[in-house]
Amino acid sequence: MASTLESQDSGIVLGIESTAHTFSIGWVDGSGEPSPSVSASVTPKEGGIHPREAADHHVDNSGEIVQRVLSSPEFDTADISAVAFSQGPGLGPCLRVGASVARALAQRLEVPLVGVNHCVAHIEIGRQQCGSNDPVLLYVSGGNTQVISRLSGRYRVLGETLDIGIGNMLDKFARNHDIPFPGGPRIETLAEQWLQNNPGASLDGLELPYAVQGMDLAFSGIMTSALKLVDGGAPLDAVCWSLQEHSFAACVEVAERALAHTGKRELLLGGGVACNERLRSMCASMASERGGVSHVPARGYCIDNGSMIATLGRLQLLHGVTTSLSASGVRQDLRTDETDILWV
Ligand code: AMP
Ligand code: MG
Repeated sequence: MASTLESQDSGIVLGIESTAHTFSIGWVDGSGEPSPSVSASVTPKEGGIHPREAADHHVDNSGEIVQRVLSSPEFDTADISAVAFSQGPGLGPCLRVGASVARALAQRLEVPLVGVNHCVAHIEIGRQQCGSNDPVLLYVSGGNTQVISRLSGRYRVLGETLDIGIGNMLDKFARNHDIPFPGGPRIETLAEQWLQNNPGASLDGLELPYAVQGMDLAFSGIMTSALKLVDGGAPLDAVCWSLQEHSFAACVEVAERALAHTGKRELLLGGGVACNERLRSMCASMASERGGVSHVPARGYCIDNGSMIATLGRLQLLHGVTTSLSASGVRQDLRTDETDILWV
């Protein structure tokens, strides 16, 4: 249930996202309804995301994106009431581009600046889009893999990766086989292809180490073993399938334990890897076996997007949480549980 504050007309809130590969601006209207973002993503010619190159990409694209958003026929710039931006966590050089654009816009429009926590924004857009009040969140992105639940006014991390994010793992495995960034979608296609050509396929001979340690996860060992399987002659599409089965099962196991411990019934997926159909269906099966439900927002709201930053920025604005210029420095290591959740 929205509190009185949240149902107030906030005016248009802009949201600027620039934590990693994507520079994106979105907005929400006075009632909190998001519009699709205007985005540009860096696609490295070789290798992974280089923070400096990604930041240069954001600088090169930000001017045109700002122009496109400000000239939108859907609102008048005079109706903009705040400019929100991803303050962290993320890659320092990339975050600084978004923060600079946000400061300049807020000053020009003479409206408050609202620094927001990128991970919390994934949760809030998902809650809003899926009508999910108090879920356990499985947040699976490039740099992050966390299982999160709300407790005593903060989103608490119940379990997380101890090394690399699941998306980075998929991207690195892909890159080793000349598949460009982002590797996750191509791995998904190859895995499907293997299953189509080998109905009833078995994981015999394709076993990988198990990535669960208590409530935590780890993905670098699983990736090294997958690379060795291919080196040893296993077909690439078979290993892609096994890699998904093992790494997704580990995430689903931790998410299930989080549901059991918290007594909650709703699971909510977020982050770019939540675009994956196999992961979605594994989560749906697990949740329904427990008499619960698994939600996933539309793909445009799973990947990094400015609309989710605007969504969280609006909530903070309505609760009086704005960011002074002197406090608007970026926070590369900002944690999910550092942000007060005042709106539920
Ligand atoms: P994010 O960091 O949340 O923007 O998400 C980016 C990550 O999502 C990258 O690591 C992508 O490889 C991954 N990703 C995107 N689509 C898929 C998919 N269909 N299956 C698996 N991973 C995906
Ligand atoms: Mg993200």
